[in-house]
Amino acid sequence: MLVGQGIDAHRFAPGRPLVLAGVRVEHDQGLAAHSDGDVAIHALCDALLGAAGLGDIGRHFPDTDPQYAGIDSRILLRRVMASLRERGLSVHNADLTLVAQRPRLAPHIPAMCEVLAADLGCPTERVNVKATTTERMGFTGRGEGIAAFAVVLLVP
Ligand code: MG
Repeated sequence: MLVGQGIDAHRFAPGRPLVLAGVRVEHDQGLAAHSDGDVAIHALCDALLGAAGLGDIGRHFPDTDPQYAGIDSRILLRRVMASLRERGLSVHNADLTLVAQRPRLAPHIPAMCEVLAADLGCPTERVNVKATTTERMGFTGRGEGIAAFAVVLLVP
């Protein structure tokens, strides 16, 4: 078994859609990024790459490369999964925590788990997404952005 962890954070920016774990979430702003800013999928990709000993998302998909401008992060996730499959690895389970003061994410969690499970190629019940606030402390608490943490377990 191979365990990996990933962390990401992005700043809010006006005039962008908010996409988290592949799910469009209604909000008055989105997340600034070279890609679509899906902080949950970025943390998940880093956890997957970390478990497989393959570095990190920035090494595979540099944010200086124009081909990744505005890209749907699910495409990056599927590419990461393809390289894990090439190495004979599959996902046993994944656990994510999203840290946001707002918007309220709980209603979107079932859809997020379904999206991620589809891309990870594992049953939905093996994908867990949690959301928390930081009780108005720190950058997430002040509503400056969203952070995400992911842990995965890979099996041959
Ligand atoms: Mg990122």
